[in-house]
Amino acid sequence: MTQFDLNALANSPAMPVLFIGHGSPMHAIEESAFSRAWGEMGAALPQPNAILVVSAHWMTRGVSLVHVGGRPRTIHDFGGFPRALHEAQYPAPGAPDFAATTLDLLQHHHAEPDMEWGLDHGAWCVLLRMFPKADVPVYQLSLDLSRPLKDHMALAKELRALRSKGVLIVGSGNAVHNLPAMRYGSDAFDWARDFDDRIATAITNRDYSALAEIDPRDPLTRMAHPTLEHFLPLLYTLGAAGEADTPTFFAQGFDLGSISMRSVLLA
Ligand code: ZN
Repeated sequence: MTQFDLNALANSPAMPVLFIGHGSPMHAIEESAFSRAWGEMGAALPQPNAILVVSAHWMTRGVSLVHVGGRPRTIHDFGGFPRALHEAQYPAPGAPDFAATTLDLLQHHHAEPDMEWGLDHGAWCVLLRMFPKADVPVYQLSLDLSRPLKDHMALAKELRALRSKGVLIVGSGNAVHNLPAMRYGSDAFDWARDFDDRIATAITNRDYSALAEIDPRDPLTRMAHPTLEHFLPLLYTLGAAGEADTPTFFAQGFDLGSISMRSVLLA
């Protein structure tokens, strides 16, 4: 699935930025083309000083929270999966210093410190594959659902400064995410492919602002994202990327017909 020279990544002057299409939490403990691609990417990246995850699963309203705890708990924010998944732990340390720096960068964007969260499954299920030793400090930034789309991207631009400090910024969501439409054994639905193609084209053309201008009421967008929380992390990844970064899709395909697993590296 990987079509570029992973070895070249280690020479990156600024830390690359990633978007991971995370899909089912089962990818954390089950071999799949996607979990393999995440693992290969984690092994190829320069060693980060810290990882900042913007996950679809931490939603707030009226404020963006930055977790500042030193020992983030593994949050099992799902139900009905095998015991092995409910018992899985990701004991990475937190990154209070980088979290404080992040709060400084976001001082004009209504961000506040948080001690309650930890690592939700949008973060740890992916990191378990990318950095299985859990030895890189990790912290999360929440999604303030009260903001318009373009504000998320504007906020993410402030995060660019972290990249030269060795912080790996990871947006974790899905380019298409419609749970009610999921069908076991189904190929991707036409509308799911159409929206995924639209995202891929905008990224390939580096027309990132177009994705911050989509209309959530547009019928195709409503099919792809009945709610927007799995789309928003992509805006953080693209906002934290610069003109000089080249986008590469290192995983793509669909789970259950309606979940795009497209993942993007910008380096
Ligand atoms: Zn999710």
